[in-house]
Amino acid sequence: MSYQLNWDMDSVFTGGSQSSELRTKIETLKEQIEQFHQTVELWDPEVDRLNYNHLKEVLNLSEKIGNSLSEAMTFSRGLLSANVRDKNAAKLTNELSTLYSSLSNSTTVLTKKYVGIDDADWADLLEIEPFNASAFPLNEQREQGKKLLSQNEEAVINALTNDGFKGWGDLYNSLVATVQVDFENKDGKVNSYSAGQAANLMGSAKDPETRQKMLEKWELAWASKSSLFADTLNHLAGFRLENYKLHGTEDFMARPLEYNRLKKETLDIMWDTITKNKPKVVEYLNRKAQLMGIEKLSWVDVTAPVSVGDFEPRHYSYDEAAEFIMENFSSFSNQMQKLAKTAFEDSWIEAEYRDGKRPGGYCANLPESEQSRIFMTFSGSAGNVSTLAHELGHAFHSYVMRDLPVMNRRYAMNVAETASTFAELVISDATVREASSEAEKINLLDSKNARAATMFMNIHSRYLFETAFYEERKNGIVTDDRLSELMVDAQKEAYQDSLSTYHPTFWASKLHFYNTGVPFYNFPYTFGFLFSLGIYARSLEEGSGFEEKYIALLRDTASMTTEALAQKHLNVDLTQPDFWQSAIDMVHADIDEYLELTAKYI
Ligand SMILES: [Zn+2]
Repeated sequence: MSYQLNWDMDSVFTGGSQSSELRTKIETLKEQIEQFHQTVELWDPEVDRLNYNHLKEVLNLSEKIGNSLSEAMTFSRGLLSANVRDKNAAKLTNELSTLYSSLSNSTTVLTKKYVGIDDADWADLLEIEPFNASAFPLNEQREQGKKLLSQNEEAVINALTNDGFKGWGDLYNSLVATVQVDFENKDGKVNSYSAGQAANLMGSAKDPETRQKMLEKWELAWASKSSLFADTLNHLAGFRLENYKLHGTEDFMARPLEYNRLKKETLDIMWDTITKNKPKVVEYLNRKAQLMGIEKLSWVDVTAPVSVGDFEPRHYSYDEAAEFIMENFSSFSNQMQKLAKTAFEDSWIEAEYRDGKRPGGYCANLPESEQSRIFMTFSGSAGNVSTLAHELGHAFHSYVMRDLPVMNRRYAMNVAETASTFAELVISDATVREASSEAEKINLLDSKNARAATMFMNIHSRYLFETAFYEERKNGIVTDDRLSELMVDAQKEAYQDSLSTYHPTFWASKLHFYNTGVPFYNFPYTFGFLFSLGIYARSLEEGSGFEEKYIALLRDTASMTTEALAQKHLNVDLTQPDFWQSAIDMVHADIDEYLELTAKYI
């Protein structure tokens, strides 16, 4: 069997970014959105309460629009990713984003009407089909609606958000584009690099001394513009705090937790359990330092590759990767294997290594075709195979939810990576198992452990920093010097003082602090990683009988709180340490194996 390296987009809409089929679709969408707007405006819950037929029509239309928009967006964004110079695709993507935002005004009107219904009538409504199936997202929408200000006030805030909030996020990107990092070449000549180029060079530098020198220059580059970055960060946080206050809360964690459908207790116990287990991770970091011939790791060494000898890393052809993934999926779930087979055979994947593609990988849903599309660049490394498995995990998540209402498919960031991380764990374990030499095995285990260290230490430092920063920001502007101080304090605490050098201006160099979409763009990573690891541990325990339970869990990821999800499908209480510990034990097992295998090389 030989699989196609390019995806099939023509079966979605023919004609690429000039597609007349897509043009027709967009025109229909515009009419439907207008119709949606009117249907929402005309809806009078008092009059409709006999059978709620009018509301059924509203939700039907919203379902249709939601599916069509995703279908069109996956197509146009896909064309743009596969060819960044496709200007038509860029225009289409932009046009579709505008349609998304015009939809949100009508959604606010609808939400306000939900709030206006009294509790008893609302409870009755949720008993009726099809609303009963979406009781959770509908309740959630109504509860959040209670905090909304008047329709006009919300419209004013929305209008001001573009320049007053999102504009600072755009400014960040413009500032990053001006950052120049000066690295010295081997021959002593100094070259100037963009931030992206410099990050790549630093990540691929072979020896610790070179990396350390690069880190110093990197730090200097960000520090030279720190007051501009500090202004940007302060205004972003200031806008958020003021917006929260207008909506009745001074608690800056309320929104991020609500967004992730998570209790504060759960988040606290997760970090507490991680912190109790950090000495083992520090042991790993110290061993890694010994293998590199240095006393302590520096900030840049944590994720740098380590090797104990010469080995030829295994190279996979695309077909070999496909077979490897399908074979290993099948030992966990036949349905996962079948879905992967469909994805390879029906050309859902764009994997070709060529110029003009955007970097990175993702998976996007085609709800009308009941398919997905996966974007990545495959060059044959074990890491590529893991990425491919990761994206297929996302496709599997969409697949098992394909028949649910749109509302019940909107899972939050903390559980969004459940299926993908699970699939990746299956594959990265298999690559370690099949390593052809001890040196290769150590290398693969090291990258697994480095990832865990990033989740436990690096992401923790971001969470600690943001918590401290938002607290101080309540009382006014926080200066650049103070930001760096808070950052280093957070890093030392998170890494338990195990590094030789830290990264004080990390608050400027890390894009995630400037994300205007989701606040506290950090803890959901660690949460998702451990949540998947816990599920993976459970699947190893229960064997093939776990498949049905796993699918049932995935189907419910947008239909209840995270705690309820874990209680219902795993029978665990996330506010207690046990589940977290069982997940962390999996990491400990990898670290123990690493310590044992590397003992003779120090
Ligand atoms: Zn992912």
